[in-house]
Amino acid sequence: MKKLTILGGGESGVGAAILGKQKGYDVFVSDRGEISKKYKEVLLNNEIDFEEKNHTEAKILNADVVVKSPGIPDTVPLILKLKENGIKVISEIEFAAKYTNATIIGITGSNGKTTTTLLTHYILKNAGLNVGVAGNIGDSFAQQVAEQKYGNYVLELSSFQLDGIEDFNSHIAILTNITPDHLDRYEYDFNKYIASKFRITKNQTANDFLIYDADDEAINNWLKENKTQAKLVPFSLEKELEYGAYIKENNIIININKDTIHMPTSALSLKGKHNTKNAMAATMAAQLLKVRKQTIRESLEDFEGAEHRLENVAKVKGVAYVNDSKATNINATFYALECMDTATVWIVGGVDKGNDYNDLLPLVREKVKAIVCLGLDNEKIKNTFKNVVDIIVETAGAEEAVKVSHKLAERGETVLLSPACASFDLFENYEDRGRQFKKAVRSL
Ligand code: ADP
Repeated sequence: MKKLTILGGGESGVGAAILGKQKGYDVFVSDRGEISKKYKEVLLNNEIDFEEKNHTEAKILNADVVVKSPGIPDTVPLILKLKENGIKVISEIEFAAKYTNATIIGITGSNGKTTTTLLTHYILKNAGLNVGVAGNIGDSFAQQVAEQKYGNYVLELSSFQLDGIEDFNSHIAILTNITPDHLDRYEYDFNKYIASKFRITKNQTANDFLIYDADDEAINNWLKENKTQAKLVPFSLEKELEYGAYIKENNIIININKDTIHMPTSALSLKGKHNTKNAMAATMAAQLLKVRKQTIRESLEDFEGAEHRLENVAKVKGVAYVNDSKATNINATFYALECMDTATVWIVGGVDKGNDYNDLLPLVREKVKAIVCLGLDNEKIKNTFKNVVDIIVETAGAEEAVKVSHKLAERGETVLLSPACASFDLFENYEDRGRQFKKAVRSL
């Protein structure tokens, strides 16, 4: 019996364990931390051997194949040792993909993955396709493959998941954009991070498609210097394209097959230029799968969007409150500020991932009337914006930030939580930050 060891007993690890067991492996799950009660029960019910708060190295080094959680860096001693011993270390995505013939739409990028994934899934579902959603989102891919649930999958793929693929392939790949993020995992080398994102196309053939942002410098440079077998399907907000999606007089135009789509950007349910791009990418994926124009249009008009991404929370005394807690880098916040069409009280701050706030200066000057800092260390924010915004207040929690913002904002204006930072100084994660923000707004 082949030995499968799984490092990390979370959603993806436990899913891989179930699939491995079903496929006849001798499975062992090892987690250096605690495994949550829910997953422990699943492992026990499936009679899968596991350990927690420990990695028993001798046992792990005995594996034929190791599935590693994307959270574990490739550089930790245990992983290095596995590789030295010639043991295959792969991601759950790679492992699960071996056991399905489903059509895969794989979506990666620095920002917009979740939104584009959910939107693509929504369109395909409305078109009546038997389609699942997985990857960085929802139930694990491996678990769904074990249940043989779907003939098509829309997968949200992080660079860490892509680092752990060998043969995995997407029939349709979407690369939303590439801006610096997670550089701590890539030796602070942007090129390494770019290469990681482009792994999404490494196994694509001439029958496959790569949908990408043709306005993105990092993507264009890579494509100039490297080769992909896939058919290139660009989208752009800046230029007209002979083949692909672009904007003309506030209309999205998509001409990738004979049935050209025209649609006013104002009809899209998700606002903002970034979401126009996400919509273009999702639409082209759907078109390549022969979804009818009418279904695509209707889906783009009524898609509700994901929580914590420019989410409209409430209007209180004529002030709109927007939760964009998922904006954990400058680029995401850039698009959020760009969307603001009223004077804005901007709640920003948290754990800085090496931010250069200067990119935001013109937008902040134009749109922001007051800055409410929500982080432990706000020096960089204060220094960057002190000559541009008169009011900069520091707060130490979501409730206080909302109360202060409520005093500062006037009827017709907007309070925007778009932190441009990670949340770990004051919150458990970005979801916790967003929820606390919403709760504070609702109790105003
Ligand atoms: P991801 O899954 O890649 O983190 P999300 O869809 O969750 O992407 O969005 C993360 C943040 O980025 C949100 O603040 C959102 O408003 C913003 N965003 C969404 N799409 C894009 C895009 N195409 N370009 C830049 N920012 C985006």
